[in-house]
Amino acid sequence: MAKNIILLGPPGAGKGTQAKRLVDGRGMVQLSTGDMLRAAKSSGTEMGKKVAAIMDAGQLVTDEIVIGLIAEQLDKGAPGGFIFDGFPRTLGQADALAALLAAKGTGLDAVIELVVDDEALVGRIVKRAEETAGAGQPVRPDDNPEVFARRLREYYKQTSPLLGYYYAKGGLTQVDGMAAMESVAAAIAKVLDKA
Ligand code: AMP
Repeated sequence: MAKNIILLGPPGAGKGTQAKRLVDGRGMVQLSTGDMLRAAKSSGTEMGKKVAAIMDAGQLVTDEIVIGLIAEQLDKGAPGGFIFDGFPRTLGQADALAALLAAKGTGLDAVIELVVDDEALVGRIVKRAEETAGAGQPVRPDDNPEVFARRLREYYKQTSPLLGYYYAKGGLTQVDGMAAMESVAAAIAKVLDKA
């Protein structure tokens, strides 16, 4: 059965890594607004040009832009369900997502918070940048300690209120994001199987 889930957590928590595993293992569709925005940026579309500086500075782009991107993808459907990765990031986005899903006669089956230790996050980001560079791939301009600090602040200011929002709705489950990648995946699988 199709299940729609949100992976919530600060930058570097492992949302993208876990989302990719769910895509491979369960045939779900990953909707990462960060990936969509980076694609727009590198292909040089008007929207991409508009968001480039904001992204590089570690700030959030407008709700309107990311809601538009998500709406477009939702229209394509996903028989295995959607994984929302890096969206929603504001309460406005959360409300918009609820409305978009309701209009399709569906909703969220689980919201999973990857709980991580802030100190460890900076280390992960630095490691991600080093590994990417080592593999000869372009490093994300926002994967450096200075911009990362800004991204973390944006997370606490704008995104962390979503934890209370989904908790109150009754759909929030916490998973230890500091555990080994396999254990995190197993914990997420358990939540999905119960949802
Ligand atoms: P991410 O790959 O999820 O870390 O996103 C990279 C950057 O894209 C963020 O720092 C923001 O500038 C932008 N971004 C991604 N998703 C969103 C969103 N849902 N709302 C606003 N900005 C976003």
